[in-house]
Amino acid sequence: GAILLWLRRDFRLADHPALAAAAASGRPVIPVFVLDPVAEVWGAAPRWRLGEALAAFAAALDRIGARLVLRRGAALDTLLALIAETGATAVYWSRDLNPAAKARDTAVKAALKAAGVEARSFPGQVLFDPWTVETGQGGPYRVYTPFWKAVRGRDPGAPLPPVTALRPPATAPASEALADWRLGAAMNRGAAVVARHAQVGEATALARLDRFLETGIAGYAERRDLPAEPGTSGLSENLAWGEISARTIWHAGRRAMDAGAAGAETFLKELVWRDFAWHLMAHFPELGSRNWRPEWDAFPWQGDSPAAERWRRGQTGAPLVDAAMRELFITGTMHNRARMIAASYLTKHLLTDWRVGLAWFAETLIDWDPASNAMGWQWVAGSGPDASPFFRIFNPEGQAAKFDPDGRYRQHYLAAGAPGAQAFFAAAPRSWNLDPAAPPPAPLVDLAEGRARALAAYQALKG
Ligand code: FAD
Repeated sequence: GAILLWLRRDFRLADHPALAAAAASGRPVIPVFVLDPVAEVWGAAPRWRLGEALAAFAAALDRIGARLVLRRGAALDTLLALIAETGATAVYWSRDLNPAAKARDTAVKAALKAAGVEARSFPGQVLFDPWTVETGQGGPYRVYTPFWKAVRGRDPGAPLPPVTALRPPATAPASEALADWRLGAAMNRGAAVVARHAQVGEATALARLDRFLETGIAGYAERRDLPAEPGTSGLSENLAWGEISARTIWHAGRRAMDAGAAGAETFLKELVWRDFAWHLMAHFPELGSRNWRPEWDAFPWQGDSPAAERWRRGQTGAPLVDAAMRELFITGTMHNRARMIAASYLTKHLLTDWRVGLAWFAETLIDWDPASNAMGWQWVAGSGPDASPFFRIFNPEGQAAKFDPDGRYRQHYLAAGAPGAQAFFAAAPRSWNLDPAAPPPAPLVDLAEGRARALAAYQALKG
């Protein structure tokens, strides 16, 4: 019988263990994506980016003679219906460590098995499956450096070559039309603007990696913290959709390191932060919804508010924060340094619950990754494992002087008529009522006062 290859966030032909196993079986393979309740709740930008990923991967499958089947509905019911239609006898997929996906997959696997269907899940999302990395005492890691030490000498295995042909089923099952799903609808005016920055698909991801190896990796350690520089790989967008495997990137970084590229080890360390985030999330599924340190439940976090709304719209009056929020809105990504500063401003200067910020990132990031997003927010807020101490409050002005010394990043997004500013006003919803000619907003909070207020709240929590 045929194999259903149930795709989720693994849109690549190379180093895709589930796909490789299906291809190697010699049986007919039916690739299918199900828009199910787990994906239906994703934010506007991830849903839009999903549509782009699906279109690109459908074309890639087409080139190897396979047709991507699109269906919408509850995963199990949809898979069972396809099995009934096609006579398929197996379902293969890549494990997804996102708690919502994991819960769904566990139930699907049990039900398929009960129905006599072969159900097999494969690795591929991370370098090292979370349960294979344990501390000396036998539990999960909570601190990054020992995690890094535990895995840095490990070989995640050689990447699998791209699959070049799939045996088609006798009759291809019907597919829904991608356009009918209107996955970009919630992007409002923003989709066209974000589309100019997105780099979609496996071939593009591999080209991005090559470019980074040629021009970026050597100077990575020095340039990676400068938001105005193209000093990082940009690969998070492709990793988020599985358009390239972490293992492919890991091996490329490793080769660069062996060849003496100065920034290569720093780069590998960053890549392993992504694995660490999934490690944390796999062991602590509430990483994205609860304070990791329960004592933080007593912190006077404020919920959503007009101030948070000004933060989302890039109207805080702290120029680096506003530039960062505009970058997010029009590119669907934000430089890592800027993410830390914008998140610190929201959680500390505005004393706003980190989950308010996490939700906005989940709405607007095309590299949205539930584990890295959750770890990043809890790290900045101080509530997370291995978090930066709360009292270390980023001063947006000091950070700007250090990491955007010539003001290029801020000007690009804030100066009247600058490309980033123009793109922002083109993308912003009309309901925001923004006036491109208006003077910069007055600061929402005096930086010193905001800092003092945050420290007082922290002292109260400690006391
Ligand atoms: P590079 O510097 O080229 O690094 C290579 C790869 O290493 C990245 O693609 C990424 O996979 C990984 N990596 C680098 N830094 C980190 C980090 N701090 N944490 C985890 N992995 C890292 N990253 C996401 O992919 N999705 C998110 O939703 C996300 N949300 C974040 C929220 C906050 C508040 C913070 C502080 C960070 C968040 N990050 C997130 C991590 C980081 O900002 C991005 O991974 C990074 O900016 C991606 O750019 P790059 O691909 O050019 O990275």
